[in-house]
Amino acid sequence: MTARILDGKALAETVRAEVREGVDAFRSAHGRVPGLDVVLVGEDPGSVVYTRNKEKASLEVGMRGRLHRLPANTPEADIVALVRSLNADPTVDGILVQLPLPSGVDAVRVLDLIDASKDVDGFHPVNVGLLALGRSNAIVSCTPAGCMRLIGLTGAKLEGLNAVVVGRSNIVGKPMAQLLIAANATVTVAHSKTRDLPGVCRQADVLVAAVGRPHMIRGEWIKPGATVIDVGTSRLALPDGKTKLAGDVAFDEAKEVAGFITPVPGGVGPMTIAMLLANTLEAAKRREAGRAR
Ligand code: NDP
Repeated sequence: MTARILDGKALAETVRAEVREGVDAFRSAHGRVPGLDVVLVGEDPGSVVYTRNKEKASLEVGMRGRLHRLPANTPEADIVALVRSLNADPTVDGILVQLPLPSGVDAVRVLDLIDASKDVDGFHPVNVGLLALGRSNAIVSCTPAGCMRLIGLTGAKLEGLNAVVVGRSNIVGKPMAQLLIAANATVTVAHSKTRDLPGVCRQADVLVAAVGRPHMIRGEWIKPGATVIDVGTSRLALPDGKTKLAGDVAFDEAKEVAGFITPVPGGVGPMTIAMLLANTLEAAKRREAGRAR
């Protein structure tokens, strides 16, 4: 069997087109466009690229995108002051503070300060709590939300299926598990202390890998016909000195067994920014609806 590829690039384009339409309708209704403000502290090369891409993507769908670049030695008090001013600014619908923050800055304090209604990353304890409670008004972390859209492409009903999430981070593994529970799957969360990980994975009708260990999940760990979502992104060094992106799943082996599989790159990655845009539009709509009440 050769798995069908779940094309994240194409689905992300669909989501962006939906958001673009939503932004047009929002502008007509409210006379302004949704605003996304991204805060970057320091020069981490990956973060510089990610934040530029986020700013660019928001502009492309017609939003107001703004990148605030602060030097690595910015005092925590100044970062806090910026977040507070963005919280208070009525033209700002989404605030995203790019991680990692420089050492010495209390990232938890900074993230917790973001107004939960503008927390388009879905990392704030209020949004995490709303998701855990199964409330529809949670702003859901972008990567797991994107994974759910990808799973949706299979057309399968998740109810009663066995889902295994490998990884229990606050930004991917745990919210992913919550979303799968909400969809009535029977969910197992595996991590570095899990015994017999291959055996656990073999139970999975839906397997989500969010570890960060290239090609750790082998073809023989996959249940025939399973849906495999590979969140992992690691940089592998090539003999010519270049690097390439690698997922957690040994794709060439897994695609012979799985029913559906996401590639890396071109799977989950493009969906993350698309869902950030969707979250920003949704946050803007809710804020306007709140004002009208
Ligand atoms: P974390 O490092 O925060 O979490 C990794 C998880 O993997 C932990 O729960 C850890 O277990 C578990 N783990 C580590 N080693 C093993 C092992 N040998 N067997 C089983 N589980 C293991 O990573 P993130 O959740 O932030 O990210 C995971 C991956 O997803 C990374 O490659 C990251 O780059 C990628 N990513 C991709 C995104 C995208 O848009 N495509 C967005 C976000 C992340 P324990 O808790 O026990 O330590």
